[in-house]
Amino acid sequence: MTLLDYDLAARRPSVSAFLARGPHRLLIDGEWVAPSSGDYIESLDPATGTILTEIARGTSADVDDAVSAARRALESPAWSRMTPAARSALLWRLADLIEQHIDELSELETLDQGKAYRTARFGELPGTIAQFRYYAGYTNKLLGTTIPTSIAHQPEGKQIFAYTVKEPVGVVAAIVPWNSPLLMASMKLAPALAAGCTVVLKPSENTSLTALRLGELALEAGFPAGVVNVVTGYGREVGQALAEHPGVDKIGFTGSTAVGKALLVAAQGNLKRLTLELGGKSPAIVMPDADFALAVPGIARGIFNNGGQVCVASSRVYAHSSIYERLVEEVSREADALSLGHGMNPATDMGPMVSMVQADRVAEYVREGVADGVEVTAGGLQVDEQRTFYRPTVLTGVRQEMRLMQEEIFGPVVSITPFDEVDEVVAWANDSVYGLAASVWTEGLSNAHTLTSRIKAGTVWVNCHSYFSPELPKGGHKKSGWGYENGAQGIENYLESKTVVTVY
Ligand code: NAD
Repeated sequence: MTLLDYDLAARRPSVSAFLARGPHRLLIDGEWVAPSSGDYIESLDPATGTILTEIARGTSADVDDAVSAARRALESPAWSRMTPAARSALLWRLADLIEQHIDELSELETLDQGKAYRTARFGELPGTIAQFRYYAGYTNKLLGTTIPTSIAHQPEGKQIFAYTVKEPVGVVAAIVPWNSPLLMASMKLAPALAAGCTVVLKPSENTSLTALRLGELALEAGFPAGVVNVVTGYGREVGQALAEHPGVDKIGFTGSTAVGKALLVAAQGNLKRLTLELGGKSPAIVMPDADFALAVPGIARGIFNNGGQVCVASSRVYAHSSIYERLVEEVSREADALSLGHGMNPATDMGPMVSMVQADRVAEYVREGVADGVEVTAGGLQVDEQRTFYRPTVLTGVRQEMRLMQEEIFGPVVSITPFDEVDEVVAWANDSVYGLAASVWTEGLSNAHTLTSRIKAGTVWVNCHSYFSPELPKGGHKKSGWGYENGAQGIENYLESKTVVTVY
């Protein structure tokens, strides 16, 4: 059995059928249409490099069509006058359809992105379904307020009644990355649709297959034409055209900080509303009283799950010097024990990086660190047989100012650094342009409260890492983002408030 082996004969017929339906077109106004370019992009299995199918290379003309369709749908009675209960039922039906197709969608995600099947099947797909069900329950809870006012100058004998209402923000561009494609899409679509918006979804050019299948399921669920549109293609073409388009009211974006900043500029024409979920470099602080039975597997999962291609990956570990050596040894042992392979191989713990470009990038960071005196206690190798695979890697001797410590690698690479004082570790943890997430490992209440209050991050976990759920707000401080997804805050991203003042 080699790294790349898996049982092709076990491929689900529904997956084969979906792949064979390619070249895949664009979903615009309820129809699957060819891209105006006539061009298609090969969709590769990153483990083997084989072509799975082809996806459309959308253009700005296709974006125009999709945005017009979304605008018409937004204003159509079929959508704008649909009762909250009916909207809720549609979201719930879509969740049911995803659940009915959970194995197929998990396999598609694995083939397209490379992740271990169990990560998709038991983590991301249930998370996707939960998003739609959570926000299905919100459609009739988008409440305004009545406001007692003291305005004195109304005509004699008249009174004032003032209130606010919540309205959908309008046409939403949902632009998502390649690391957890369907889950990221659902974190935008579910609240946007619950709020009554219409959506143009732009998946990553590396991983568009589950977004296209989601488009099919949205039609099957019965969403009116134009409410959900899917335009595949490159970021600099489709993404840029959406960001600049005057017909788009709101961008829900998850991706890199560099592109997030570019969107600020592109979106300024009509002052689009923006939610930006960006990069991270999340610290994990291990105190002397940490429970190793939790901390070691928790940190290892936090960095090696999905090959470290996770925005909140626990990539910077700071361990108290009294337990530092033991932690390095045990996390390194966990890293060495992980089996690499094709995501569809049941024995696989970690699949390939999403692309050769990404794997080469990871290798370059480690090479540079080693040249600068960093020590490798596990991994540190790109697999020769297929360069998209990179071994789970543990590094020591990484200094605070090094690129390895400061930049998001987005690969299975963790540094472990000893500390002595709380003030010192807080300063190091906060010494980052990012502020997405962090974890603290301690059995002590005082340590837990002290550290959670002093760390600048959108989420701080205690004795766990990467715990998500639709009801838990998620967002970044500093260059990790603008705004919060999930929970009550998540749906506010897709609503405008209107104040109505009535004299009667
Ligand atoms: P990316 O920023 O390169 O691309 C994200 C999306 O934006 C893709 O669909 C891409 O095609 C599109 N895009 C690229 N250039 C564009 C442009 N000029 N205008 C408009 N759209 C454009 O990110 P990626 O490499 O796909 O994903 C990895 C990044 O995503 C990492 O930085 C990671 O931290 C981040 N991420 C953040 C979160 C979070 O919740 N904070 C979650 C997952 C991933």
